[in-house]
Amino acid sequence: MAIKTFEEYLKSLRKLKPTVYMFGEKIENPVDHPRIRAGINATGATYELTQHERYKNLMMTMSPLTGELINRFTLPPQSIEDLVMRVKVNRALGGYVGTCHQRCTGLDCLCSLSIVTYDIDKKYGTQYYNRFNEFLKYMQKNDLTANASVTDVKGDRNLGPHEQPDKDMYLRVVDQTKEGIIVRGAKAHQTGSVSCHEVIVLPTRAMGKGDEDYALAFAVPSDTKNLIHVVGRNSMDTREIEGVDCGNIRYSKYCPTLIFDEVLVPWDRVFMFREVEFAGEMVNRFSAFHRQSHGGCKSGKIDAMTGAALMMMEYNGTSKVSHHKEKVINMIHMAETLYGCSLAASYEGKKEPSGTYFIDPVLANASKIHEGKEMAEATRQMIDIAGGFVADLPSDRDFENPEIGELLKKYLKGATGIPVEKRIKMLRLVEKMAMESADTISDIHGGGSPAAHRLTIFRESDIDYKKNCAKRLACIED
Ligand SMILES: Cc1cc2nc3c(=O)[nH]c(=O)nc-3n(C[C@H](O)[C@H](O)[C@H](O)COP(=O)(O)OP(=O)(O)OC[C@H]3O[C@@H](n4cnc5c(N)ncnc54)[C@H](O)[C@@H]3O)c2cc1C
Repeated sequence: MAIKTFEEYLKSLRKLKPTVYMFGEKIENPVDHPRIRAGINATGATYELTQHERYKNLMMTMSPLTGELINRFTLPPQSIEDLVMRVKVNRALGGYVGTCHQRCTGLDCLCSLSIVTYDIDKKYGTQYYNRFNEFLKYMQKNDLTANASVTDVKGDRNLGPHEQPDKDMYLRVVDQTKEGIIVRGAKAHQTGSVSCHEVIVLPTRAMGKGDEDYALAFAVPSDTKNLIHVVGRNSMDTREIEGVDCGNIRYSKYCPTLIFDEVLVPWDRVFMFREVEFAGEMVNRFSAFHRQSHGGCKSGKIDAMTGAALMMMEYNGTSKVSHHKEKVINMIHMAETLYGCSLAASYEGKKEPSGTYFIDPVLANASKIHEGKEMAEATRQMIDIAGGFVADLPSDRDFENPEIGELLKKYLKGATGIPVEKRIKMLRLVEKMAMESADTISDIHGGGSPAAHRLTIFRESDIDYKKNCAKRLACIED
């Protein structure tokens, strides 16, 4: 059976030897590095839950490609039901890990490739779709995780790829041989890249004439020669390294910068090569899928945030305070509207010529705009309910200190009869969910900046239909 357990996932990562740097040092054993391990644990939840009675039917399905039971994170949707399950799985995981589980991005790349490689072949008679399906079979049979290498570093935002003074600001092909293509460039904010077996590269934007060298899609193993992962800072990262005050049982997010320092990509892993007019379609499909994924997982994160707010009310003695109840109702409302929008994008999905189902892009982007604003609002409400100790709670090391620990516990008590340790733990979780920069900033920029979501809504909406509604009512006939 092509399903890995959490332990098997860890074992498979240990076999890889990626080049990883953090804080100026090379990390020889990333799997056991506490900072990276917390991210691996979050992705590991997508493996763990396949063994969990409550979640296993959600997490697994049959592959039409291999005929085997597979993890849903390796399945480009083949029906409306599959589109709906994407949202449900992400919501369950968001509540389970309370942060980003980091496995949706790779699936969203697989979804985009399963549509666009077919479209390119139809126009040019190329063989990308077959190649991609071989890759997909490999992903499914081995239950592998991929990351989405989409965001180029982009240099001067006012200039397109080939106009940049430094030609490597967008990842590009610099040579080609019998074996494959050699690529150079860097991708930024690579969510969980060291937790992945494969790195899938897609173009970051629509491209035009002159940008052919940049119009590339391919996949390489995450430990490919000359591929360098540089794990970025995060607002709470040293807590994991110190092993204290982490706030969340064992899950976190990290986003390396990925440098392709002349990486060889074998031809059988190249899924788009210089078909410049398809760069826009590739990234637009990916972005729509990914913005919808966010609607699922972030509504799940609000579930955990709402739970934390309710527990803080119990621990502080404010359960009966009416404005707190109102705030909790607001949080539930935000989660459900986000979830509803994301589900609606699934129900309005359509079958593409390749057989893969595509979500409704307007609803998917509406969901992402909603997320950008409402996650910040849900965070504000949770902090309001929890109180100021979210900002400056003493360390667990102070609570354990024989000289001041008991004094601190005396003064941090909350509601009568509630052990102070519970209040301390919940405050720390609230801090983590509110302040983990790698996760909270993705509410805004993940899947593209907010302006991109808005432009997409305008571009994909049926503007003429809306005009015609108004013209008919006003008795204007053209
Ligand atoms: C936590 C996190 C996780 C992420 N994970 C991934 C991942 O796994 N894989 C991946 O590929 N990417 C990932 N991203 C990247 C994300 O998609 C980008 O951050 C996003 O697309 C914005 O790009 P940027 O960061 O380069 O900002 P910029 O593109 O520089 O945008 C900054 C601001 O400038 C505006 N702007 C920029 N250029 C123009 C222009 N020409 N015209 C008008 N306005 C402009 C934007 O609208 C925005 O307001 C992640 C980002 C974050 C924060």
